Amino acid sequence: MEIISDITAMQNRCLSARAAGQTITFVPTMGFLHEGHLSLLREGRKRGDLLVLSIFVNPTQFGQGEDLDRYPRNFERDESLARECGVDLLFYPDVEAMYPAGYATYVTVDGPLTTTLEGACRPTHFRGVTSVVTKLFNIVMPQVALFGRKDFQQLAVISRMTADLNLPIDIVGMPIIREADGLAMSSRNVYLSDSERKQALALSDTLRQAAEMAQNGESEADKILTMAQDRLHAEADLQIDYVKICNAQSLEEVDTIDHESVILLAVSIGKTRLIDNGNLIS
Ligand code: AMP
Repeated sequence: MEIISDITAMQNRCLSARAAGQTITFVPTMGFLHEGHLSLLREGRKRGDLLVLSIFVNPTQFGQGEDLDRYPRNFERDESLARECGVDLLFYPDVEAMYPAGYATYVTVDGPLTTTLEGACRPTHFRGVTSVVTKLFNIVMPQVALFGRKDFQQLAVISRMTADLNLPIDIVGMPIIREADGLAMSSRNVYLSDSERKQALALSDTLRQAAEMAQNGESEADKILTMAQDRLHAEADLQIDYVKICNAQSLEEVDTIDHESVILLAVSIGKTRLIDNGNLIS
């Protein structure tokens, strides 16, 4: 595995791989790798010749007062996990290289995809995500890029951007990987105290109960949302940012459940913000 921090060196390495006819598969991350990230890497390994992982804690997708400074990092551990997954190139740029003095260009996706849900709570978040992903796509030049459905809205926004800008990249969405007890894996889970970790089970439990209601024939979104709010409110340190049932494509809220409905939620438990989502009718 090669570790490359320099942007031009990375571009040259990827250009020569493409010139040699190789398919580049790409998994962008902020590091502190867990099984969720590794599932993307393993799938990426199968889908191409050159597997590229990026680790970059992107400051432009964090809002003021968010956890940029304390975001967990462990490069040595990430490096050895990446090797185990068969990563060929690990791209590890620094902030000054990605955003040099005078940097002034951003890519934005307009409309409900970026203004609802996470976009309503974190108004500058998706602008940061779409800008950095565009930069990374231009540096790595992959034919295939893999993203987790854990960040359901992010996947929708990146798919929209890739289509709208005619980027010749196949965007692959991957299932949510969970701990044995149901908690969706996240680098941020390390922030949770023991008591908060127990309360965090309310997220997956809510999704499970919501799917159960829908599968037992409940078609009114309001009824499921009332159950969800009650279940989440049962936890003393949990505050709801949102819990909504939306169409999986448009992310617009729906009144009546169908096969395209997805329930999405974001909560804070103490100082930790967690998101999760799930289909209602499988
Ligand atoms: P992050 O490092 O949090 O920016 O995540 C990098 C990629 O890993 C994104 O595409 C995430 O959606 C994906 N990811 C994070 N957690 C999970 C998970 N539990 N299951 C599947 N994919 C995940």
